[in-house]
Amino acid sequence: MRPGLAESQVIVRDGKERSLERRHPWLYAGAIEHVIGDPVSGATVALIDARGGFLAWAAWSPQSMIRARVWSFDIGDRIDPSWFAARVARAVERRGHLAGRTNAVRLVFGEADGLPGLVVDRYDAQLVIQCLAAGVAAHRDTLVGALVAATGCVDVYERSDAAVRAREGLESITGVLGGLTPSAPIEVEEDGIRYGVDIVSGHKTGFYIDQRDNRRAVREEIERLRAHRMGEPVEMLNTFSYTGGFSLAALAGGAATALNVDSSAEALAMAGLNAQRNGFGPDQLLVEQSDVFGWLTQAAQAQRRFDLIVLDPPKFAPSAAHVERAARAYKEINRKALGLLRPGGALFTFSCSGAIDVDLFQKIVAGAVIDAKIEVSLIRRLGAGDDHPMAMTHPEGEYLKGLLLRRT
Ligand code: SAH
Repeated sequence: MRPGLAESQVIVRDGKERSLERRHPWLYAGAIEHVIGDPVSGATVALIDARGGFLAWAAWSPQSMIRARVWSFDIGDRIDPSWFAARVARAVERRGHLAGRTNAVRLVFGEADGLPGLVVDRYDAQLVIQCLAAGVAAHRDTLVGALVAATGCVDVYERSDAAVRAREGLESITGVLGGLTPSAPIEVEEDGIRYGVDIVSGHKTGFYIDQRDNRRAVREEIERLRAHRMGEPVEMLNTFSYTGGFSLAALAGGAATALNVDSSAEALAMAGLNAQRNGFGPDQLLVEQSDVFGWLTQAAQAQRRFDLIVLDPPKFAPSAAHVERAARAYKEINRKALGLLRPGGALFTFSCSGAIDVDLFQKIVAGAVIDAKIEVSLIRRLGAGDDHPMAMTHPEGEYLKGLLLRRT
């Protein structure tokens, strides 16, 4: 151990070092034997095994169940500004290939980029940063400096207002960290489609960047359906539509109509503006403000039918304790949506609940298919874009999962 690098040492209970040895980046409170020193929130500590051996450098989160998050397993690393700059530069560089396709990119995705709790999204020349753990919150200014240097973007906005901040004992923070306050939605372009992004009051950092490849898949599926429908108009239903990301992709693919159902009037208004941005009229991008559960029941009674349906609800299971109730809700919306699908039609169904893995999600949807009494094939599984990778040693990082189903 090099003295002086860490003010404090966290001694890990005998046996509890195994997950760290397997390079899992979290240390739970219950795995700690004792702490030498008095680390403040976000301080770098050395994690030490029961025999005195070095395990990792980590950030101390005194109020979180995840009491420490690993910066590095390398005893030779110094967790200083140049170390942060190198991690940030590497994360930005990994996304370089997306530049030709879009200017809405997740530049840093927490544990997958070796920066636990840090999320950074780029919308054109604007950066939006979320510090969701004590370590990155303590090093925020260093990280912002590194981000500006790596991207050349000087406008930086903080959206550290996700619910997980409370579990870290951190208050919610939003505001300008650099450059100007954005006065209007930022316009981004992805695969030739323009979207407005409200970084100040939109969901997450304003846009569901993670669905990029699935928006493209919807567009391709519409093109297939147009051939299948032989000149008949192709009708798309986008439930939990938010600002209409999937709907714009469907219209770009040649859908006659894309119907957005969402409970939020602001989200639907933004969807309408997004249609205008791309030259689609209100007869093409349709909106109905409603609770999706009730809407699906009514649509079944009215015998409405669609060629392509997207189901992308909010997280029904925020933790493992909610899995059973969430499973029932996923099954219900999937069963109801399947009942509205024309023969040959496609269902894109998603879950962003980390507590429900892809196998369980597929079982839930299979149950919905059985109840819907129709014949359906799984075409492929879907996930987040490659700017949202998952460290293989941190399976908790996988959250977005989806299935593309076709009715025969
Ligand atoms: N598919 C969207 C993201 C969906 S976010 C995209 O790709 O951009 C979830 C959306 O569901 C939010 O817009 C929220 O307003 C809406 N929502 C949540 N619960 C709802 C409910 N019960 N009925 C209708 N909309 C709901």
